[in-house]
Amino acid sequence: MIRVRFAPSPTGLLHQGNVRTALFNFLYARHQGGKLILRIEDTDQERSQENYEAAILEDLKWLGLEYDEGPDRTGDFGPYRQTERLPIYKKYLEQLESQGQVYPCFCTHEDLENERRKAMAGGKPYRYSGKCRELSAEDRRARIEAGVANTFRFKVDREIVKFTDLVYGEKIFDTLTIGDFVIARSNELPLYLFACAVDDCLMRITHVIRGEDGMSNTPRQMLIQRALGFTPPQFAHLPLILGPDHSLLSKRNGSTSVGELKGKGYLPPAILNYLSLLGWAPPEGKEILDLANLVELFDLGRVSRSSAIFDWAKLDHINQVHMAHLPEADYLAKAKQALVDGKFDASGTAEENLRKVLLALRPNLKNFAETPGWLTLLLGHPEPQTDEAREVMKAPESRKVLETLAGLIEAREDEMNPVSYEQVLEELKKKTKIKGKKLFMPVRVALTGGTEGPELAALVTALGKTQVLERVRSAFENLQHEKPQ
Ligand code: GLU
Repeated sequence: MIRVRFAPSPTGLLHQGNVRTALFNFLYARHQGGKLILRIEDTDQERSQENYEAAILEDLKWLGLEYDEGPDRTGDFGPYRQTERLPIYKKYLEQLESQGQVYPCFCTHEDLENERRKAMAGGKPYRYSGKCRELSAEDRRARIEAGVANTFRFKVDREIVKFTDLVYGEKIFDTLTIGDFVIARSNELPLYLFACAVDDCLMRITHVIRGEDGMSNTPRQMLIQRALGFTPPQFAHLPLILGPDHSLLSKRNGSTSVGELKGKGYLPPAILNYLSLLGWAPPEGKEILDLANLVELFDLGRVSRSSAIFDWAKLDHINQVHMAHLPEADYLAKAKQALVDGKFDASGTAEENLRKVLLALRPNLKNFAETPGWLTLLLGHPEPQTDEAREVMKAPESRKVLETLAGLIEAREDEMNPVSYEQVLEELKKKTKIKGKKLFMPVRVALTGGTEGPELAALVTALGKTQVLERVRSAFENLQHEKPQ
């Protein structure tokens, strides 16, 4: 049975990088008919916070990334929160100590800093000198009895550690570069590296799928697992995600929490769809995929070794497509919620008109958070909003276009609909002998205030004849007050 895990440390909120890791684990488990375990790695008690754990659980739920075992699920391998497993780590630490595989290290922070500085000055990569490895049994006992604080170090003898990474292929590490490393701050406080290595085996994890930044931990964890008599799991490291400036994704260049993505109005299936493409490529190049499609197609063999760049424009595009595919009622409910969230008061607009405007707007929305802004423009009294829009209105043809258009609309018997709008534009073209942008742009600016936006035929239908006429007239009158160029 395939068993994978997502093992976040609750020291912050989930960002694109962790979600991509959670997603790939989820997809792998579901594709293989295996199990996904959520393990909370909270042994760093200074940095871990309960509210972060709660936020992680909530974000996974909102995204639709269901797991089978975890702190809020039952399972045969719990508890799933590492601070509830401390006696387990203590037992394995004692086992390693009795095997002579681990020794207490009394070096202080300053001692270690001095060692490091010396190595750096000599141009050598730093590794622990092994000073405390050589202490005699009496010496150790005396220091412990005197209450000198100690950590525990894992002994690393020279060997070559090899494994086949399911993404990066054969990896070879010479342990000479590793040196004896700390695995516990005290016998009560294991470090992440150790707790994680123990749990992956006790929880029968078959595949560890995690970010490439975890690669340097892999040989260390394999050494621990072997020393304890476990068989290490298989490893698959995922390529890093970089910001648009090609440096590691961070707050500065676009790292965004799930909560922020939610606030910006992105849909969970669109977020997952976009993240799935960061380091993985679907077999037939079709990139718009829902979660079920992703589960069906996912294959670790198609994960790339090169870093992926986070591209907001592409996320917008994918979100736009997912929004377009939402059932109408669902779309309208979400758009209206976005109005409430954006404190937009739509009470002055008849329900049916609001519905029409929202539907007309749909192809233009990149995310729901844009809805209030658009509605302010579309339901308010639009003035040209940008320099470009003001330039359009200054063109000598614009007056003629708007004056003629007002006349044509006024003469119509019907409320506006897409067909009548097309007819009006045809007549407008004939009467004014103006065409192309010179004709369409002033109409768009008069109706929306901008030079880009929803399809006008749909908008005009939503606004109705009276509104349309009022906007065209008011735009024309504003031009009358301006000096001709
Ligand atoms: N708790 C580790 C982290 O959040 C997990 C690393 C791993 O997956 O092994 O970075």
